[in-house]
Amino acid sequence: MKYLLVMGFVLVVFWLWRHNRDAERKDAAATRPRQAPNREAAVAEMVACDVCHVHLPKSDALTGGKGIYCSDAHRRQAGD
Ligand SMILES: [Zn+2]
Repeated sequence: MKYLLVMGFVLVVFWLWRHNRDAERKDAAATRPRQAPNREAAVAEMVACDVCHVHLPKSDALTGGKGIYCSDAHRRQAGD
């Protein structure tokens, strides 16, 4: 009998914990402002290599005096 009481108490505590957790999630979802995804931050500016015309992110491109290149080999090939 003692174990049934302990088990019942544990079940009630577990149920209360889950009930409060679900209520907090609903409140958080309701109060959270809906944000439009920041597309500009996710899209990288693309540039084309002056030798092979492959498009690549500007952050990965090599900039020379005469143009933009995908690799050091193409920068040298262009005579930059
Ligand atoms: Zn290239």
